Amino acid sequence: MDELIDVGANLTHESFRNDLPAVLERAAGTGVRRIIITGTSLAASQAALALAATRPGVLWSTAGVHPHAAAGYDEATEAGLRILLRDPRVVAAGECGLDYYRDYAPRDVQRSVFSRQLELAAASGRPLFLHQRDAHVDFLGLLREQGSRLPGGVAHCFTNGPAEVADYLDAGLYIGITGWICDERRALDLRAAVRLIPLDRLVVETDSPYLLPRSIRPAPRSRRNEPATLPEVVRTLATFMGQSPEIVAEATTRNAEALFGLSVNRR
Ligand SMILES: [Zn+2]
Repeated sequence: MDELIDVGANLTHESFRNDLPAVLERAAGTGVRRIIITGTSLAASQAALALAATRPGVLWSTAGVHPHAAAGYDEATEAGLRILLRDPRVVAAGECGLDYYRDYAPRDVQRSVFSRQLELAAASGRPLFLHQRDAHVDFLGLLREQGSRLPGGVAHCFTNGPAEVADYLDAGLYIGITGWICDERRALDLRAAVRLIPLDRLVVETDSPYLLPRSIRPAPRSRRNEPATLPEVVRTLATFMGQSPEIVAEATTRNAEALFGLSVNRR
């Protein structure tokens, strides 16, 4: 299988504190040589950039505030994100979006904080790293308000079905597929939807340490996911797309390079 890019891994999560070098080594051993670290708050986004700075050409980061944390977003947060988004190693605005499933922040606050980050993305020229759960209609509405000002983006951890995938493709987004596809109980809709995704609109991610692929063997005792499981996501995804893993690997790597402007780092 071709080299892979994990476009979403939460490597600043405390579960990686003690063994990150080994995690990155295992990832490289399975062909995952480039990883984008997800930022979910200003502090986490700053930590993500600091970590990315230790491995140029291997790690990059995103800068944004997750809808779960929207209630704490203020002028200082926005100023901090604006600074981060000027750094060439920060390759996306986000994780941002709407989450009406958990509703950790009031919905009107989520919408205004999402809108402000859409403005930041437009101003910085950075593509979006987008989160949406149970908020499809409002989410699409806010994206459409920005129209062609937005520099593209990825619907990260897409888990929905054919109707939602069609709307996202229509909005010009890439679709991010995680180990959710490996869950034979929960992924029925998703498995039907991936057949509709053109190869040039697809990226893959682990969302580590979350979403350990259910099909991974041997399953780690800790249940912690890590970027080294990305080939399992690609193999499973390829099966349900009716494609070869090699084709899916090659396409998703090319797409991630193009969307996030990653410097080409092949041997
Ligand atoms: Zn998310």
